[in-house]
Amino acid sequence: GVAGELLPPVRRQLTRIDSNGRHLLQIINEILDITRIEAGKMPMQISQFNVNELIPEVMAELDAVIARSKLTVTPRLSPGMPDVVSDRQKVKQVVLNLLSNAMKFRHQGGIDVAVGYDAVEGMASIAVQDTGIGIAPEHHEKVFEDFRQVDDPPSRQYGGTGLGLAICRRLAATVGGRITLHSTLGSGSRFTLVFPVNAES
Ligand code: ATP
Ligand code: MG
Repeated sequence: GVAGELLPPVRRQLTRIDSNGRHLLQIINEILDITRIEAGKMPMQISQFNVNELIPEVMAELDAVIARSKLTVTPRLSPGMPDVVSDRQKVKQVVLNLLSNAMKFRHQGGIDVAVGYDAVEGMASIAVQDTGIGIAPEHHEKVFEDFRQVDDPPSRQYGGTGLGLAICRRLAATVGGRITLHSTLGSGSRFTLVFPVNAES
């Protein structure tokens, strides 16, 4: 409406152009991320931060998507947990990707994002649990491969490039961590990022 009144059909078409533009941008960003990591151009940027604070930040970034989906995302924080020393941006990016997948591959129900802390092992964890379509056991390894999307008809209807989890896996490795997956076809998935609370030690 910046340049004047828009007729509803025109507004609809413009909205489609806008949304397709954003989709293209997402694909370009994913490919750039993979390439940057592979080229070793995504160095660690270590800082001290509170893992609990990341969760509302990620939810705020997905605010529009969450509102549109009418799903409830429930943060389960770990208030007593000490600050971690790691790469804040990379940890946040992983949670963002996992949460957007959880929103995408679901039909109804809620999503939980749970922060955990294992003082003995010196590990922090962030688990994203959904009640969505789930992933068959034979695909548990494969979904982390570049450009891999589960081929079953139910997941075909969802867009994307199949790079999100491949990026997550690389980012997790960069911070010395890993991503584990528990999932049952038809009843939901839980992806958990586990990473050292001190990336320097
Ligand atoms: P992109 O992330 O590049 O937009 P994508 O979401 O399809 O595309 P990934 O995030 O790498 O790609 O996920 C790979 C595949 O793993 C998905 O296509 C889907 O088949 C499956 N998958 C990922 N997360 C979930 C989930 N929470 N529930 C069910 N299936 C999932
Ligand atoms: Mg994805």
